[in-house]
Amino acid sequence: MNNIHHWVDGKIFESTSGRTGPVFNPATGEQTGQVDLASVEEVDAAVASAKAAFPAWRSTSLSKRSEIMFRIRELVDANRKEIASLLTAEHGKVLSDAMGEVARGIENIEFACGVPHLMKGGFSEQAATGVDVFSIRQPLGVVAGITPFNFPAMVPMWMFANALACGNTFVLKPSEKDPSASLFIAELLAQAGLPEGCFNVVQGDKVAVDRILEHPDIAAVSFVGSTPIAKYIYETGTRNGKRVQALGGAKNHMLVLADADLDMAADASIGAAYGAAGERCMAISVVLAAESIADELVAKIAERIPNVKVGPGSEPGFEMGPLITAEHRDKVASYIEGAPTEGATVVIDGRPGSNDGGFFINPTLLDNVKPGMSCYDNEIFGPVLSVVRVHGYEDGVEIINANQFANGTAIYTRDGGAARQFQYDIQVGMVGINVPIPVPVSYYSFGGWKASLFGDTHMYGPEGINFYTRGKVVTSRWPDPATSKIDLGFPETR
Ligand code: NAD
Repeated sequence: MNNIHHWVDGKIFESTSGRTGPVFNPATGEQTGQVDLASVEEVDAAVASAKAAFPAWRSTSLSKRSEIMFRIRELVDANRKEIASLLTAEHGKVLSDAMGEVARGIENIEFACGVPHLMKGGFSEQAATGVDVFSIRQPLGVVAGITPFNFPAMVPMWMFANALACGNTFVLKPSEKDPSASLFIAELLAQAGLPEGCFNVVQGDKVAVDRILEHPDIAAVSFVGSTPIAKYIYETGTRNGKRVQALGGAKNHMLVLADADLDMAADASIGAAYGAAGERCMAISVVLAAESIADELVAKIAERIPNVKVGPGSEPGFEMGPLITAEHRDKVASYIEGAPTEGATVVIDGRPGSNDGGFFINPTLLDNVKPGMSCYDNEIFGPVLSVVRVHGYEDGVEIINANQFANGTAIYTRDGGAARQFQYDIQVGMVGINVPIPVPVSYYSFGGWKASLFGDTHMYGPEGINFYTRGKVVTSRWPDPATSKIDLGFPETR
Protein backbone atom coordinates (compact mmCIF):
# COMPACT_ATOMS: atom_id res chain seq x y z
CA MET A 1 0.00 0.00 0.00
CA ASN A 2 1.35 3.38 -1.08
CA ASN A 3 1.31 5.99 1.70
CA ILE A 4 0.87 9.49 0.34
CA HIS A 5 1.96 12.35 2.58
CA HIS A 6 2.16 16.15 2.61
CA TRP A 7 5.02 18.29 1.26
CA VAL A 8 6.17 21.10 3.56
CA ASP A 9 9.42 23.09 3.69
CA GLY A 10 10.78 21.37 0.59
CA LYS A 11 10.36 17.81 1.86
CA ILE A 12 7.91 15.02 2.58
CA PHE A 13 5.92 15.69 5.74
CA GLU A 14 4.23 12.71 7.32
CA SER A 15 0.91 13.34 8.95
CA THR A 16 0.25 12.53 12.57
CA SER A 17 -3.46 13.38 12.33
CA GLY A 18 -4.34 9.69 12.42
CA ARG A 19 -6.79 10.26 9.54
CA THR A 20 -6.29 8.83 6.06
CA GLY A 21 -8.38 8.38 2.92
CA PRO A 22 -8.32 5.50 0.41
CA VAL A 23 -6.86 5.86 -3.08
CA PHE A 24 -8.03 3.40 -5.73
CA ASN A 25 -6.95 2.15 -9.10
CA PRO A 26 -10.30 2.86 -10.80
CA ALA A 27 -9.57 0.38 -13.59
CA THR A 28 -9.44 -2.57 -11.16
CA GLY A 29 -11.34 -1.23 -8.17
CA GLU A 30 -8.40 -2.11 -5.91
CA GLN A 31 -7.26 0.21 -3.14
CA THR A 32 -3.65 1.02 -4.00
CA GLY A 33 -2.85 3.69 -1.47
CA GLN A 34 -3.86 5.78 1.46
CA VAL A 35 -3.48 9.48 1.67
CA ASP A 36 -2.92 11.61 4.76
CA LEU A 37 -5.83 13.84 5.69
CA ALA A 38 -4.39 16.93 7.34
CA SER A 39 -5.26 18.25 10.75
CA VAL A 40 -5.64 21.98 11.37
CA GLU A 41 -2.11 22.04 12.85
CA GLU A 42 -0.68 20.46 9.70
CA VAL A 43 -2.30 23.09 7.49
CA ASP A 44 -0.88 25.70 9.85
CA ALA A 45 2.61 24.19 9.45
CA ALA A 46 2.36 24.45 5.65
CA VAL A 47 1.11 28.04 5.81
CA ALA A 48 3.87 28.97 8.28
CA SER A 49 6.46 27.53 5.89
CA ALA A 50 4.98 29.50 2.97
CA LYS A 51 4.82 32.66 5.08
CA ALA A 52 8.46 32.34 6.12
CA ALA A 53 9.55 31.81 2.51
CA PHE A 54 7.61 34.79 1.13
CA PRO A 55 9.90 37.77 1.89
CA ALA A 56 12.96 36.23 0.20
CA TRP A 57 10.98 34.84 -2.74
CA ARG A 58 9.20 38.13 -3.28
CA SER A 59 12.51 39.98 -3.43
CA THR A 60 14.12 37.42 -5.75
CA SER A 61 14.67 39.25 -9.03
CA LEU A 62 12.24 38.81 -11.90
CA SER A 63 14.96 37.32 -14.07
CA LYS A 64 15.87 34.77 -11.39
CA ARG A 65 12.22 33.82 -10.89
CA SER A 66 11.84 33.50 -14.63
CA GLU A 67 14.96 31.30 -14.79
CA ILE A 68 13.47 28.97 -12.15
CA MET A 69 10.19 28.81 -14.08
CA PHE A 70 12.16 27.80 -17.18
CA ARG A 71 13.86 25.05 -15.16
CA ILE A 72 10.50 23.86 -13.80
CA ARG A 73 9.28 23.74 -17.39
CA GLU A 74 12.27 21.61 -18.46
CA LEU A 75 11.82 19.15 -15.58
CA VAL A 76 8.07 18.78 -16.05
CA ASP A 77 8.68 18.31 -19.77
CA ALA A 78 11.31 15.61 -19.11
CA ASN A 79 8.90 13.83 -16.74
CA ARG A 80 5.71 13.99 -18.83
CA LYS A 81 5.35 10.21 -18.93
CA GLU A 82 5.93 9.74 -15.19
CA ILE A 83 3.30 12.35 -14.35
CA ALA A 84 0.88 10.91 -16.91
CA SER A 85 1.22 7.40 -15.53
CA LEU A 86 0.43 8.66 -12.01
CA LEU A 87 -2.72 10.25 -13.44
CA THR A 88 -3.73 7.01 -15.14
CA ALA A 89 -3.04 4.97 -12.01
CA GLU A 90 -5.20 7.05 -9.69
CA HIS A 91 -7.66 8.90 -11.94
CA GLY A 92 -8.07 6.18 -14.56
CA LYS A 93 -7.83 8.35 -17.70
CA VAL A 94 -6.05 6.67 -20.61
CA LEU A 95 -2.37 7.43 -21.04
CA SER A 96 -2.79 9.50 -24.23
CA ASP A 97 -5.37 11.68 -22.47
CA ALA A 98 -3.11 11.99 -19.42
CA MET A 99 -0.26 13.11 -21.69
CA GLY A 100 -2.62 15.75 -23.12
CA GLU A 101 -3.41 16.96 -19.62
CA VAL A 102 0.30 17.37 -18.82
CA ALA A 103 0.89 19.14 -22.16
CA ARG A 104 -1.84 21.71 -21.48
CA GLY A 105 -0.49 22.20 -17.96
CA ILE A 106 3.04 22.85 -19.26
CA GLU A 107 1.66 25.64 -21.45
CA ASN A 108 0.74 27.49 -18.25
CA ILE A 109 4.29 27.14 -16.95
CA GLU A 110 5.58 28.42 -20.30
CA PHE A 111 3.31 31.45 -20.01
CA ALA A 112 4.62 32.14 -16.50
CA CYS A 113 8.24 32.05 -17.77
CA GLY A 114 7.42 35.44 -19.31
CA VAL A 115 6.81 36.99 -15.90
CA PRO A 116 9.14 40.00 -16.45
CA HIS A 117 6.81 41.12 -19.24
CA LEU A 118 3.65 40.10 -17.45
CA MET A 119 4.36 42.19 -14.36
CA LYS A 120 5.28 45.36 -16.20
CA GLY A 121 3.41 48.41 -15.01
CA GLY A 122 2.70 51.71 -16.75
CA PHE A 123 4.53 55.03 -16.57
CA SER A 124 3.24 58.52 -17.32
CA GLU A 125 5.87 61.19 -17.47
CA GLN A 126 4.87 64.76 -16.56
CA ALA A 127 1.35 63.87 -15.40
CA ALA A 128 1.47 67.28 -13.72
CA THR A 129 4.32 69.73 -13.93
CA GLY A 130 7.37 67.90 -12.62
CA VAL A 131 5.23 64.94 -11.52
CA ASP A 132 5.46 61.39 -12.86
CA VAL A 133 2.90 58.64 -12.17
CA PHE A 134 3.54 54.93 -12.46
CA SER A 135 1.79 51.70 -11.60
CA ILE A 136 3.36 48.52 -10.26
CA ARG A 137 1.97 45.09 -9.45
CA GLN A 138 3.05 43.28 -6.31
CA PRO A 139 2.44 39.73 -5.07
CA LEU A 140 -0.20 39.03 -2.43
CA GLY A 141 1.77 36.79 -0.04
CA VAL A 142 0.68 33.23 0.76
CA VAL A 143 -1.96 31.99 -1.67
CA ALA A 144 -3.77 28.64 -1.72
CA GLY A 145 -5.14 26.36 -4.44
CA ILE A 146 -7.86 23.76 -3.90
CA THR A 147 -8.21 21.42 -6.86
CA PRO A 148 -10.60 18.75 -8.22
CA PHE A 149 -9.97 15.09 -9.00
CA ASN A 150 -10.42 15.33 -12.74
CA PHE A 151 -7.22 17.23 -13.64
CA PRO A 152 -4.76 16.40 -10.83
CA ALA A 153 -1.76 17.88 -12.69
CA MET A 154 -3.12 20.53 -15.06
CA VAL A 155 -5.39 22.45 -12.69
CA PRO A 156 -2.64 22.90 -10.04
CA MET A 157 -0.41 24.17 -12.90
CA TRP A 158 -3.16 26.65 -13.90
CA MET A 159 -2.67 28.12 -10.44
CA PHE A 160 0.86 27.73 -9.07
CA ALA A 161 2.74 28.68 -12.25
CA ASN A 162 1.47 32.26 -12.30
CA ALA A 163 1.23 32.53 -8.51
CA LEU A 164 4.89 31.61 -7.97
CA ALA A 165 6.19 33.58 -10.95
CA CYS A 166 4.49 36.69 -9.54
CA GLY A 167 6.39 36.22 -6.26
CA ASN A 168 3.74 34.56 -4.07
CA THR A 169 4.27 31.40 -2.08
CA PHE A 170 1.78 28.59 -2.49
CA VAL A 171 -0.16 25.98 -0.51
CA LEU A 172 -1.88 23.35 -2.66
CA LYS A 173 -4.73 21.17 -1.38
CA PRO A 174 -5.21 18.58 -4.13
CA SER A 175 -8.13 16.19 -4.45
CA GLU A 176 -7.79 13.37 -1.96
CA LYS A 177 -8.93 10.94 -4.68
CA ASP A 178 -5.77 11.21 -6.82
CA PRO A 179 -3.12 12.97 -4.73
CA SER A 180 0.19 11.50 -5.99
CA ALA A 181 0.81 13.75 -9.00
CA SER A 182 0.95 16.85 -6.79
CA LEU A 183 3.67 15.32 -4.60
CA PHE A 184 5.72 14.31 -7.63
CA ILE A 185 5.39 17.83 -9.05
CA ALA A 186 6.50 19.27 -5.69
CA GLU A 187 9.71 17.25 -5.97
CA LEU A 188 10.32 18.59 -9.48
CA LEU A 189 9.83 22.16 -8.26
CA ALA A 190 12.43 21.58 -5.54
CA GLN A 191 14.87 20.05 -8.06
CA ALA A 192 14.37 23.12 -10.24
CA GLY A 193 15.74 25.30 -7.44
CA LEU A 194 12.52 26.71 -6.03
CA PRO A 195 13.44 27.65 -2.44
CA GLU A 196 12.01 25.59 0.41
CA GLY A 197 8.62 26.70 1.60
CA CYS A 198 7.61 28.40 -1.64
CA PHE A 199 5.44 25.43 -2.66
CA ASN A 200 3.70 23.20 -0.12
CA VAL A 201 1.18 20.40 -0.53
CA VAL A 202 -1.40 19.65 2.12
CA GLN A 203 -3.35 16.48 1.49
CA GLY A 204 -6.79 16.51 2.99
CA ASP A 205 -10.51 16.92 3.02
CA LYS A 206 -12.99 19.45 4.42
CA VAL A 207 -10.89 19.92 7.58
CA ALA A 208 -7.95 21.21 5.51
CA VAL A 209 -10.18 23.27 3.22
CA ASP A 210 -11.96 24.96 6.11
CA ARG A 211 -8.64 25.83 7.78
CA ILE A 212 -7.40 27.34 4.51
CA LEU A 213 -10.57 29.43 4.27
CA GLU A 214 -10.17 30.86 7.75
CA HIS A 215 -6.37 31.08 8.03
CA PRO A 216 -5.42 34.72 8.62
CA ASP A 217 -2.11 34.37 6.76
CA ILE A 218 -3.66 33.21 3.46
CA ALA A 219 -4.37 36.17 1.20
CA ALA A 220 -6.14 34.47 -1.71
CA VAL A 221 -7.76 31.18 -2.66
CA SER A 222 -8.15 29.66 -6.12
CA PHE A 223 -10.66 26.84 -6.32
CA VAL A 224 -11.80 24.48 -9.06
CA GLY A 225 -14.49 21.88 -8.38
CA SER A 226 -18.24 21.37 -8.22
CA THR A 227 -20.71 24.25 -8.01
CA PRO A 228 -22.01 23.76 -4.44
CA ILE A 229 -18.45 23.65 -3.05
CA ALA A 230 -17.32 26.54 -5.28
CA LYS A 231 -20.13 28.67 -3.89
CA TYR A 232 -19.22 27.67 -0.33
CA ILE A 233 -15.53 28.47 -0.93
CA TYR A 234 -16.36 31.85 -2.45
CA GLU A 235 -18.77 32.87 0.28
CA THR A 236 -16.61 31.66 3.17
CA GLY A 237 -13.31 32.89 1.76
CA THR A 238 -14.56 36.36 0.90
CA ARG A 239 -16.32 36.64 4.26
CA ASN A 240 -12.90 36.05 5.81
CA GLY A 241 -11.42 38.87 3.73
CA LYS A 242 -9.68 36.77 1.09
CA ARG A 243 -9.52 37.28 -2.63
CA VAL A 244 -11.29 34.24 -4.14
CA GLN A 245 -11.81 32.80 -7.61
CA ALA A 246 -13.96 29.65 -7.48
CA LEU A 247 -14.72 27.75 -10.67
CA GLY A 248 -17.69 25.39 -10.52
CA GLY A 249 -19.47 22.69 -12.48
CA ALA A 250 -20.80 22.63 -16.01
CA LYS A 251 -23.39 21.42 -18.49
CA ASN A 252 -21.94 22.14 -21.90
CA HIS A 253 -24.16 22.20 -24.99
CA MET A 254 -23.21 21.67 -28.62
CA LEU A 255 -25.73 23.27 -30.96
CA VAL A 256 -25.78 21.48 -34.32
CA LEU A 257 -27.57 23.49 -37.00
CA ALA A 258 -29.22 21.92 -40.04
CA ASP A 259 -26.44 23.04 -42.39
CA ALA A 260 -23.60 21.50 -40.33
CA ASP A 261 -21.38 18.74 -41.64
CA LEU A 262 -23.06 15.95 -39.68
CA ASP A 263 -20.14 13.51 -39.85
CA MET A 264 -17.86 16.17 -38.43
CA ALA A 265 -20.39 17.04 -35.72
CA ALA A 266 -20.87 13.36 -34.82
CA ASP A 267 -17.10 12.76 -34.61
CA ALA A 268 -16.68 15.85 -32.45
CA SER A 269 -19.50 14.93 -30.11
CA ILE A 270 -18.03 11.45 -29.51
CA GLY A 271 -14.64 12.88 -28.51
CA ALA A 272 -16.10 15.71 -26.46
CA ALA A 273 -18.69 13.59 -24.64
CA TYR A 274 -16.76 10.41 -23.93
CA GLY A 275 -13.12 11.58 -23.67
CA ALA A 276 -11.91 11.08 -20.07
CA ALA A 277 -15.21 9.20 -19.54
CA GLY A 278 -17.01 12.55 -19.55
CA GLU A 279 -15.15 13.67 -16.42
CA ARG A 280 -14.13 17.01 -17.92
CA CYS A 281 -15.65 20.34 -16.98
CA MET A 282 -15.52 21.18 -20.70
CA ALA A 283 -17.05 17.88 -21.84
CA ILE A 284 -20.05 18.18 -24.14
CA SER A 285 -22.93 16.56 -22.27
CA VAL A 286 -25.83 17.87 -24.38
CA VAL A 287 -26.20 17.96 -28.16
CA LEU A 288 -28.93 20.34 -29.28
CA ALA A 289 -29.92 18.90 -32.65
CA ALA A 290 -31.97 20.90 -35.17
CA GLU A 291 -35.16 18.91 -35.79
CA SER A 292 -34.65 18.40 -39.52
CA ILE A 293 -31.30 16.61 -39.02
CA ALA A 294 -31.83 15.13 -35.54
CA ASP A 295 -32.66 11.54 -36.64
CA GLU A 296 -29.65 11.46 -38.94
CA LEU A 297 -27.31 12.94 -36.32
CA VAL A 298 -28.46 10.55 -33.57
CA ALA A 299 -27.92 7.63 -35.98
CA LYS A 300 -24.42 8.84 -36.82
CA ILE A 301 -23.48 9.23 -33.14
CA ALA A 302 -24.98 5.83 -32.29
CA GLU A 303 -23.09 4.04 -35.07
CA ARG A 304 -19.78 5.45 -33.81
CA ILE A 305 -20.25 4.54 -30.13
CA PRO A 306 -19.43 0.81 -30.41
CA ASN A 307 -16.05 1.76 -31.88
CA VAL A 308 -14.95 3.62 -28.72
CA LYS A 309 -12.38 1.36 -27.08
CA VAL A 310 -13.07 1.23 -23.35
CA GLY A 311 -10.57 -0.31 -20.93
CA PRO A 312 -7.75 0.22 -18.46
CA GLY A 313 -5.93 3.42 -19.28
CA SER A 314 -2.53 1.88 -18.60
CA GLU A 315 -2.91 -0.53 -21.55
CA PRO A 316 -2.26 0.84 -25.03
CA GLY A 317 -5.09 1.09 -27.53
CA PHE A 318 -7.87 2.12 -25.19
CA GLU A 319 -9.56 5.48 -25.65
CA MET A 320 -11.76 5.72 -22.58
CA GLY A 321 -11.13 4.59 -19.02
CA PRO A 322 -13.25 4.13 -15.89
CA LEU A 323 -14.91 6.64 -13.60
CA ILE A 324 -13.15 7.83 -10.47
CA THR A 325 -14.94 5.82 -7.75
CA ALA A 326 -17.60 3.14 -7.32
CA GLU A 327 -19.94 5.75 -5.75
CA HIS A 328 -19.56 8.04 -8.74
CA ARG A 329 -20.15 5.16 -11.18
CA ASP A 330 -23.36 4.28 -9.32
CA LYS A 331 -24.52 7.90 -9.37
CA VAL A 332 -23.94 8.13 -13.12
CA ALA A 333 -25.80 4.83 -13.57
CA SER A 334 -28.76 6.21 -11.60
CA TYR A 335 -29.24 9.00 -14.17
CA ILE A 336 -29.39 6.42 -16.97
CA GLU A 337 -31.80 4.31 -14.91
CA GLY A 338 -34.15 7.24 -14.33
CA ALA A 339 -34.07 8.65 -17.87
CA PRO A 340 -36.87 6.53 -19.47
CA THR A 341 -39.30 7.17 -16.63
CA GLU A 342 -38.93 10.89 -17.32
CA GLY A 343 -39.66 10.40 -21.03
CA ALA A 344 -36.14 10.18 -22.51
CA THR A 345 -35.12 7.39 -24.91
CA VAL A 346 -32.07 5.32 -24.01
CA VAL A 347 -30.52 4.78 -27.45
CA ILE A 348 -27.37 3.08 -26.10
CA ASP A 349 -27.11 1.96 -22.48
CA GLY A 350 -23.52 1.74 -21.22
CA ARG A 351 -24.36 -0.25 -18.11
CA PRO A 352 -22.75 -2.39 -16.85
CA GLY A 353 -19.40 -1.10 -18.02
CA SER A 354 -16.55 -3.20 -19.35
CA ASN A 355 -14.04 -4.98 -17.14
CA ASP A 356 -14.60 -6.73 -13.89
CA GLY A 357 -13.86 -4.87 -10.72
CA GLY A 358 -13.23 -1.45 -12.27
CA PHE A 359 -15.51 1.56 -12.07
CA PHE A 360 -16.58 1.46 -15.72
CA ILE A 361 -19.65 2.67 -17.57
CA ASN A 362 -19.55 2.48 -21.33
CA PRO A 363 -20.59 5.38 -23.60
CA THR A 364 -24.30 6.02 -23.23
CA LEU A 365 -26.62 7.96 -25.54
CA LEU A 366 -29.96 9.43 -24.49
CA ASP A 367 -32.41 10.99 -26.97
CA ASN A 368 -35.55 13.11 -26.55
CA VAL A 369 -34.12 14.64 -23.39
CA LYS A 370 -35.74 17.88 -22.22
CA PRO A 371 -34.98 20.57 -19.65
CA GLY A 372 -36.68 19.63 -16.39
CA MET A 373 -35.55 16.00 -16.57
CA SER A 374 -33.00 15.07 -13.95
CA CYS A 375 -30.54 13.77 -16.59
CA TYR A 376 -30.66 17.26 -18.16
CA ASP A 377 -30.78 19.51 -15.12
CA ASN A 378 -27.83 17.94 -13.29
CA GLU A 379 -24.17 17.70 -14.13
CA ILE A 380 -23.75 13.93 -14.62
CA PHE A 381 -19.95 14.05 -15.09
CA GLY A 382 -19.82 10.68 -16.82
CA PRO A 383 -19.93 9.17 -20.32
CA VAL A 384 -23.58 10.06 -20.92
CA LEU A 385 -24.52 12.23 -23.90
CA SER A 386 -28.06 13.64 -24.03
CA VAL A 387 -29.70 14.79 -27.25
CA VAL A 388 -32.26 17.57 -26.95
CA ARG A 389 -34.19 18.24 -30.17
CA VAL A 390 -34.68 21.93 -31.04
CA HIS A 391 -36.49 23.78 -33.83
CA GLY A 392 -33.38 25.70 -34.81
CA TYR A 393 -30.93 28.42 -33.81
CA GLU A 394 -33.20 30.54 -31.61
CA ASP A 395 -34.65 27.63 -29.69
CA GLY A 396 -31.12 26.29 -29.10
CA VAL A 397 -29.74 29.59 -27.85
CA GLU A 398 -32.71 30.02 -25.53
CA ILE A 399 -32.11 26.62 -23.93
CA ILE A 400 -28.38 27.28 -23.45
CA ASN A 401 -28.99 30.73 -21.98
CA ALA A 402 -31.63 29.40 -19.57
CA ASN A 403 -29.21 26.84 -18.08
CA GLN A 404 -27.77 27.58 -14.64
CA PHE A 405 -24.29 26.52 -15.81
CA ALA A 406 -22.33 28.51 -18.37
CA ASN A 407 -18.84 27.07 -18.66
CA GLY A 408 -18.36 26.07 -22.31
CA THR A 409 -20.47 25.67 -25.43
CA ALA A 410 -20.02 24.98 -29.13
CA ILE A 411 -21.86 25.55 -32.38
CA TYR A 412 -21.54 23.36 -35.47
CA THR A 413 -22.54 25.11 -38.66
CA ARG A 414 -21.22 26.11 -42.10
CA ASP A 415 -22.92 29.49 -41.80
CA GLY A 416 -20.42 32.15 -40.68
CA GLY A 417 -23.19 34.62 -39.94
CA ALA A 418 -24.94 32.19 -37.59
CA ALA A 419 -21.67 31.42 -35.83
CA ARG A 420 -20.93 35.11 -35.37
CA GLN A 421 -24.44 35.72 -34.03
CA PHE A 422 -23.95 32.78 -31.63
CA GLN A 423 -20.74 34.20 -30.17
CA TYR A 424 -22.64 37.47 -29.62
CA ASP A 425 -25.85 36.01 -28.17
CA ILE A 426 -24.61 33.21 -25.99
CA GLN A 427 -24.25 33.76 -22.25
CA VAL A 428 -21.37 31.35 -21.69
CA GLY A 429 -17.72 31.99 -20.81
CA MET A 430 -15.96 29.82 -23.42
CA VAL A 431 -17.32 29.35 -26.92
CA GLY A 432 -16.27 26.97 -29.71
CA ILE A 433 -17.11 27.51 -33.36
CA ASN A 434 -16.77 24.08 -34.92
CA VAL A 435 -14.43 23.38 -31.97
CA PRO A 436 -16.01 21.04 -29.43
CA ILE A 437 -13.80 21.65 -26.36
CA PRO A 438 -12.78 25.30 -26.51
CA VAL A 439 -10.33 25.36 -23.60
CA PRO A 440 -8.54 28.71 -24.00
CA VAL A 441 -4.80 28.65 -24.70
CA SER A 442 -2.62 29.69 -21.77
CA TYR A 443 -2.29 33.32 -22.90
CA TYR A 444 -6.05 33.82 -22.65
CA SER A 445 -7.95 33.06 -19.45
CA PHE A 446 -10.22 30.18 -18.49
CA GLY A 447 -13.58 30.56 -16.83
CA GLY A 448 -17.30 30.24 -17.17
CA TRP A 449 -20.21 32.48 -16.26
CA LYS A 450 -23.16 32.10 -13.88
CA ALA A 451 -22.99 28.99 -11.62
CA SER A 452 -19.74 27.92 -13.30
CA LEU A 453 -17.69 30.68 -11.67
CA PHE A 454 -17.92 32.61 -8.42
CA GLY A 455 -15.71 35.68 -8.32
CA ASP A 456 -14.64 38.21 -10.88
CA THR A 457 -11.41 36.78 -12.21
CA HIS A 458 -11.03 33.92 -14.62
CA MET A 459 -8.13 31.55 -14.16
CA TYR A 460 -4.61 31.61 -15.67
CA GLY A 461 -3.41 33.85 -18.52
CA PRO A 462 -3.60 37.63 -18.03
CA GLU A 463 -6.45 37.37 -15.51
CA GLY A 464 -4.35 34.91 -13.48
CA ILE A 465 -1.58 37.50 -13.25
CA ASN A 466 -4.11 40.08 -12.06
CA PHE A 467 -5.53 37.66 -9.52
CA TYR A 468 -2.14 36.91 -7.97
CA THR A 469 -0.97 40.53 -7.82
CA ARG A 470 -2.18 43.79 -6.35
CA GLY A 471 -1.90 47.10 -8.13
CA LYS A 472 -0.17 50.13 -6.65
CA VAL A 473 0.10 53.60 -8.18
CA VAL A 474 2.98 55.89 -7.27
CA THR A 475 2.83 59.65 -7.84
CA SER A 476 6.33 61.06 -7.69
CA ARG A 477 8.03 64.43 -7.77
CA TRP A 478 11.70 65.30 -7.30
CA PRO A 479 11.37 69.03 -6.88
CA ASP A 480 13.81 71.79 -6.30
CA PRO A 481 13.52 72.45 -2.51
CA ALA A 482 13.51 76.15 -3.28
CA THR A 483 10.01 75.83 -4.82
CA SER A 484 8.49 74.21 -1.69
CA LYS A 485 5.36 75.86 -0.19
CA ILE A 486 2.30 74.88 1.86
CA ASP A 487 -0.87 74.33 -0.22
CA LEU A 488 -4.10 73.00 1.32
CA GLY A 489 -5.96 72.74 -2.02
CA PHE A 490 -6.82 69.38 -3.67
CA PRO A 491 -3.91 68.33 -5.95
CA GLU A 492 -4.52 69.50 -9.51
CA THR A 493 -2.71 68.42 -12.64
CA ARG A 494 -2.96 71.54 -14.80
P1 NAD B 1 -15.47 18.66 -5.57
O1 NAD B 1 -16.16 19.96 -5.49
O2 NAD B 1 -16.11 17.48 -4.92
O3 NAD B 1 -14.00 18.77 -4.90
C1 NAD B 1 -13.11 19.80 -5.26
C2 NAD B 1 -12.20 20.08 -4.07
O4 NAD B 1 -13.00 20.50 -2.96
C3 NAD B 1 -11.41 18.87 -3.60
O5 NAD B 1 -10.10 19.27 -3.29
C4 NAD B 1 -12.18 18.39 -2.39
O6 NAD B 1 -11.34 17.79 -1.43
C5 NAD B 1 -12.79 19.65 -1.83
N1 NAD B 1 -14.08 19.41 -1.19
C6 NAD B 1 -15.01 18.47 -1.52
N2 NAD B 1 -16.07 18.55 -0.71
C7 NAD B 1 -15.83 19.56 0.16
C8 NAD B 1 -16.56 20.13 1.25
N3 NAD B 1 -17.77 19.67 1.60
N4 NAD B 1 -16.02 21.16 1.91
C9 NAD B 1 -14.81 21.64 1.58
N5 NAD B 1 -14.06 21.12 0.56
C10 NAD B 1 -14.57 20.11 -0.14
O7 NAD B 1 -15.18 18.38 -7.11
P2 NAD B 1 -14.56 17.07 -7.76
O8 NAD B 1 -15.57 15.97 -7.70
O9 NAD B 1 -13.20 16.81 -7.25
O10 NAD B 1 -14.38 17.56 -9.28
C11 NAD B 1 -15.39 17.48 -10.23
C12 NAD B 1 -16.15 18.79 -10.32
O11 NAD B 1 -15.24 19.85 -10.63
C13 NAD B 1 -17.18 18.82 -11.43
O12 NAD B 1 -18.32 19.49 -10.96
C14 NAD B 1 -16.50 19.62 -12.54
O13 NAD B 1 -17.37 20.26 -13.44
C15 NAD B 1 -15.74 20.60 -11.74
N6 NAD B 1 -14.63 21.16 -12.50
C16 NAD B 1 -14.75 22.44 -12.93
C17 NAD B 1 -13.75 23.00 -13.68
C18 NAD B 1 -13.86 24.40 -14.17
O14 NAD B 1 -12.86 24.91 -14.64
N7 NAD B 1 -14.98 25.07 -14.07
C19 NAD B 1 -12.60 22.25 -14.00
C20 NAD B 1 -12.50 20.95 -13.52
C21 NAD B 1 -13.54 20.41 -12.76
